[in-house]
Amino acid sequence: MTQKSNPALFINGTWQTGNGKAFHAENPANGDIIWQGKAASPDDVNAAIMAARNAFPAWAKRDLNERIEILERFAGLLNDHKDALARTISLDAGKPHWEALTEVGAMAGKIAISIKAYHDRTGTRHGDAPGGGQAILRHKPHGVVAVFGPYNFPGHLPNGHVVPALLAGNCVVFKPSELTPLVAEETVKLWQQAGLPDGVLNLVQGERDTGIALAQHPGIDGLFFTGSVPTGYHLHHAFAGQMAKILALELGGNNPLVVWNAADLDAVAHHTVMSAFITAGQRCTCVRRLIVPTAAKGDAMIAAINDYCDRLIVGAPDDDPEPFMGPVISNRAADGLMAAQAKLVADGAKIIREITRPDPARPFLTPGLIDVTDVKNRADEELFGPILQIIRVDSFDDAIREANNTRFGLAAGLLCDDAKLWQRFIHESRAGIVNWNKQLTGASSAAPFGGIGESGNHRPSAYYAADYCAWPVATLQTDKLVAPDAAPKGVRP
Ligand code: NAD
Repeated sequence: MTQKSNPALFINGTWQTGNGKAFHAENPANGDIIWQGKAASPDDVNAAIMAARNAFPAWAKRDLNERIEILERFAGLLNDHKDALARTISLDAGKPHWEALTEVGAMAGKIAISIKAYHDRTGTRHGDAPGGGQAILRHKPHGVVAVFGPYNFPGHLPNGHVVPALLAGNCVVFKPSELTPLVAEETVKLWQQAGLPDGVLNLVQGERDTGIALAQHPGIDGLFFTGSVPTGYHLHHAFAGQMAKILALELGGNNPLVVWNAADLDAVAHHTVMSAFITAGQRCTCVRRLIVPTAAKGDAMIAAINDYCDRLIVGAPDDDPEPFMGPVISNRAADGLMAAQAKLVADGAKIIREITRPDPARPFLTPGLIDVTDVKNRADEELFGPILQIIRVDSFDDAIREANNTRFGLAAGLLCDDAKLWQRFIHESRAGIVNWNKQLTGASSAAPFGGIGESGNHRPSAYYAADYCAWPVATLQTDKLVAPDAAPKGVRP
């Protein structure tokens, strides 16, 4: 299926064709071209930033309730178009329809949560000033911010930056992943319908070049990014020395799950599989390293997980019966994961359950389990797909040491019946999301979301996104200008 050219730009309330190089996006399930257009050129990026700059003073000044009204209309439109937008997510990202529906649900839910977070974390607060008068805390928006999104949650994750940014009074230039341009287009159309004033939200589609042009533009006041660690590094370097700009980075991880003293093997299998293989392993919180005992108990855990994997259906988003996992995002990603498995085997890993690719022309992968205990100098990299590395250890001390043996720190989990071991784990583990007997994927939007180490730059998103969308202004004030009754110490009367 090919189609006419899509407009790659939404600038100052108008859909336009880009002036950069042509690119297209494919449905990963069948290879159909589902979006094609010309990317935003540096001049287009400049025009988008100028439109946002022009719109900013009026948007920032607008009554908060009026901004909230538009956001709530957007939430209503998301609910009205839930099924259609979920189908677009499935087309663009290959997600099963049931899962894409949960993504749209999270997008709509983001509005109420962001309003609560805005008041709770920022907003305006009144108190008494020392020595009389008032102490007032206000928050102001930064100005024009760039929002970058990844492909794995093409609706929910950019939305997690855009909604709080607009609520706080910022104007936005949004650069979605080039792998999922259709979701971005449909979402921006809903913002347009919600009545967002021209220039407040602008869209620039394109590949890496477009991202670089936006990130390097002197006209942005900040950049909110969710994506890969290599791109995060690039942006961190590019922003070095620019103290006036705010940079929020939400990156990847090499997340551990420790299973210890857990009697219910069905529960172990369920929570492990949901943590490792949901979204075909393409969630930033997915478990990458499963840490289990060397003893027979560990063998039983692995066997139960392997058996559970037999039950997983891999297929196209709209297949009947419904699949648990769709394809990974592209043939390139599938090639990379197959190569990663081969490299681990060459380095001494033992395959327990091989990742397979039934159709070499398409990126459908079956889930893989691989024991990497004997691999020397294991690479501390995020393998972003359905491959779970298993590490066997002799003691709980070793398990914690192994869990923390990463340069990242996004998520870590423990499946365990022993509350004392959990107390040790929560105290000693180094990650921003640490779960006990719950799957690691599927974080709460009502909590902060972010990691330590190289998983970000200490600007957690979700509930705490309010913090990076506005800056605080602390005021001591009184409406009467009066001199003190007595001269200050050291001052002659
Ligand atoms: P990516 O870094 O490849 O792309 C993200 C965006 O950055 C895209 O718009 C891309 O065009 C742009 N980009 C790429 N190189 C650039 C450069 N040099 N300068 C400016 N822009 C550039 O990420 P992805 O592959 O789409 O997403 C998957 C990654 O996202 C995984 O690593 C995953 O762990 C991570 N992720 C993190 C979170 C989180 O909240 N911590 C959530 C979801 C995904």
